[in-house]
Amino acid sequence: MFRFESINTYHSQLRDGSTSCIAAVEHYLDLIARNEHLNAFVRTYDKEARETAKRLDKNRQEGRPQGKLHGVVIAIKDVICYKDHPVTAASDILKDFISIYNSTAVERLLAEEAIIIGHTNCDEFAMGSTNENSAYGPTLNAIDETRVPGGSSGGSAVAVQAGLCMVSLGSDTGGSVRQPADFCGIVGFKPSYGSISRYGLIAYASSFDQIGIFGINIPDVGAILEVISGPDQFDSTAHRQILETNKKLDKTLKIAFFPEALDSPALDPVIREGLMEFIAKLRLDGHSVKPVHFEYLDYIVPTYYILTTAEASSNLSRFDGVKYGFRHVENKPELAEMYNITRSEGFGKEVKRRIMLGTFVLSAGYYDAYFTKAQQVRKLLVEKTNLIFKEFDFLIFPTSPSTAFKLGEKLSDPVEMYVADIFTVFSNLTGIPSISLPLFWHNNGLPYGVQIMSNRYSESSLLTLSERWMQQFKGPGYEKPKPSTPIPY
Ligand code: GLN
Repeated sequence: MFRFESINTYHSQLRDGSTSCIAAVEHYLDLIARNEHLNAFVRTYDKEARETAKRLDKNRQEGRPQGKLHGVVIAIKDVICYKDHPVTAASDILKDFISIYNSTAVERLLAEEAIIIGHTNCDEFAMGSTNENSAYGPTLNAIDETRVPGGSSGGSAVAVQAGLCMVSLGSDTGGSVRQPADFCGIVGFKPSYGSISRYGLIAYASSFDQIGIFGINIPDVGAILEVISGPDQFDSTAHRQILETNKKLDKTLKIAFFPEALDSPALDPVIREGLMEFIAKLRLDGHSVKPVHFEYLDYIVPTYYILTTAEASSNLSRFDGVKYGFRHVENKPELAEMYNITRSEGFGKEVKRRIMLGTFVLSAGYYDAYFTKAQQVRKLLVEKTNLIFKEFDFLIFPTSPSTAFKLGEKLSDPVEMYVADIFTVFSNLTGIPSISLPLFWHNNGLPYGVQIMSNRYSESSLLTLSERWMQQFKGPGYEKPKPSTPIPY
């Protein structure tokens, strides 16, 4: 029976012949089929996954050189283009649309011999926090199927959580990798803005969007980052700065936290308690963990929603029935009418809400009051971040104010849903890397994480610290407790 622990152990099993790529692929295809009700995948690529696996096995047996991700089985969110495969952003408006090129991330995965097993479910155009805004219906959280997995990359999170692939890619514009990782009890990592090329990632809000990585351990996440990050001639925002590698971290570190975040009335008191105990433990270990006054907490969600909806209203204008996917043709409408009906029928409710909100904040009469103001707040946040990282190595935050919601719980009130992004949008507004580590269990039996952030482009330090904490706090003895037994970490 195939069992996945890490890419490294998988590779040594391949070397000693105790497993094969085809055994891995068969294992995952079987599990995906048996867990279809979770609705994590919108499409699987069974035939070619099998063919690639067999080809890789043959190459290996013939002693040919192997790629860094040889045989690694990966799932990708349905907003990431994979040449000659459908990509729909979980929207009816992209129904039947086939990618004509590979995203840079996919191109680099394939070049290192990864096997892409399928596209995963998500909120339409990555807009949402529950995966319920999907044309394919919601994804279920495998820990408790009456609950959401979080969003928008819910399918990618569940694919890893339920062991349906080894690692997966999502996208994170305001928390869409970290929050579902938090709800599902896995690792979710958003690199610095510009670390991974956005070429071939369907845009939601271009100055925020970043491909992120889900995994069950840090070395796997690091291995994927190493392959897919770096400059790209097709994305001028993919930066040239070489990510620091193998950064040695001091034993004791300077860590900041925002007391306003931990004292926020939105934060579940059990999560607060867990994080306070965590801070106490870090102090006992000799770290200097200090509160830093954060005067902008109330502004970050509005700023995020003004700027991202503005960018979305522009980005999504291309879906007009002419160039991509779905077109309304009945009764041969006039051109303007065709745009109108196509967009009305093709987009879901949340996407329409955001296009309208974005169009409003960009409109001549309101531009300065909303869009310009929000840009100014974003600048203040960047300045604040620069100041913090002059003094501190890391910043810790809750990932989400609560554990996974019940299905439908937040659907009737979009504002309530938006407010739940309070702790994740900060790193997208400022472009810094951020990771959610699954270190805690709530006494309601659900997992939650701690979010760690570091300075721009310092993902190597962030991953080094993450690995250290995963070993220390999630090592042997860390198990899911029975409901209502609070455990520290
Ligand atoms: N939940 C946030 C939103 O709805 C984040 C989405 C994302 O990161 N793609 O916008």
